[in-house]
Amino acid sequence: MLRLFSRAIALAAILLAVGPLAAGDPIRVLIIDGRNNHDWRSTTPVLEAVLENTGRFAVDVATAPDGQDFAGFRPDIPRYDVVLSNYNGELWPEETRKAFVEHVRSGGGAVIVHAANNAFPEWEEWNEIIGLGGWGGRTEKHGPYVRFREGEVVRDDSPGRGGSHGRQHEYVVVSRAPDHPIVAGLPEKWMHARDELYDRLRGPAKRLEVLATAWSDPETGGSGEHEPILMTIEYGKGRVFHTVLGDNAGSMKGVGFQVTLQRGTEWAATGEVTSPAVSAEELPADRAAHRDPDDIPPAGDGWVAPPRTVPTSIMTAQAPRLPRGVRQASS
Ligand SMILES: [Zn+2]
Repeated sequence: MLRLFSRAIALAAILLAVGPLAAGDPIRVLIIDGRNNHDWRSTTPVLEAVLENTGRFAVDVATAPDGQDFAGFRPDIPRYDVVLSNYNGELWPEETRKAFVEHVRSGGGAVIVHAANNAFPEWEEWNEIIGLGGWGGRTEKHGPYVRFREGEVVRDDSPGRGGSHGRQHEYVVVSRAPDHPIVAGLPEKWMHARDELYDRLRGPAKRLEVLATAWSDPETGGSGEHEPILMTIEYGKGRVFHTVLGDNAGSMKGVGFQVTLQRGTEWAATGEVTSPAVSAEELPADRAAHRDPDDIPPAGDGWVAPPRTVPTSIMTAQAPRLPRGVRQASS
C-alpha cells in the first residue's frame, strides 16, 4: 500500500514537472553556437527562422561565452526535445558533454549541421553520435569512409584524411532511402543551392543510415565518389539527423536544405514526420530553388504534435521560455 502510494506521488510529481503534452505543443529545440570557423552569427538566425516559422518548433539558443566564462557553459539540455549543434570549437565542459550524451542515450534528439561535424575529434561518444566527421586530424583511426557505390552503401577502411571539399557550387542531391520518413514524398533528385560538398568524412558510422548522397565531382575538386549528404544515426534510444549542407546563410536559403532540416528535426524529436512534403515543382532537379526563411508558411491548424519520446525521467520542470532572439548564455 505504501509502495502504491509512493508510486502515485511519483507519477503526480512527474506530471506536474512535465505538464500535459497537449496536441500542437511545439517541439522544443536548443541551438548551440558561439564558436565556429563558420559565420554562426548569420546562420543561427536562419536556422531559427526555418524551424520557428512553421509554428511547429520553439527554438532557444545557447551561445558559448568567450574566455573564462566558458567553464560555466551549461545549457539546460534536459529541457529540450532536440539539441541542434551549430558549434565547432573548444570542447564543451565535462558536465555539458555528459548532459548531451545522456540526452541522446535516453531518447532525446540531436541535429548536426555542416561544420558541427568538424568538432570534437577526440570525444568518443560525440563521434558515435554524429556517425561521420571531418577535419581535426581525423584519419582511418576514427573509422571508415562511407560511400554509395553501385547501388549500395559501402564502408571503406582505406587510409587517408578525414574531411575535405572542393569549391562551392550547386549540386544534385539524390535520395537513397526513399521510404525513410525524412525524405519520403520529396523528389528523388533535387538541385541544392550553392554550397560546399563535404567529402571524405570518417567516423564510427554505427547504426548509421544514408538518406541522400551527392556526386563529388573531381572537376570541382571533389573525391569522385557519391558522398553522404543526409544521414540518420541511432545512439542508445536517441535519434540523430545529420546534414552536411549549410556552409553559410545563402546555402541555407535552399528550399531543400530548409525542408530536410524541418523534417529531420521533427524526426529526431519524435521518430515521425508530419511536416508536408514538397513537390518537384517546388524542389526541382534542374535548378536550385531558394526561399527567404521569412516566406516559410506556418504549418496550419491541422498539425498535431506526435507524442514525445523523451523519457519523462530526464525532463525537468518547465522554466519560462525565452523570447525569440534572447540568448541563453548559460544556465
Ligand atoms: Zn563550410
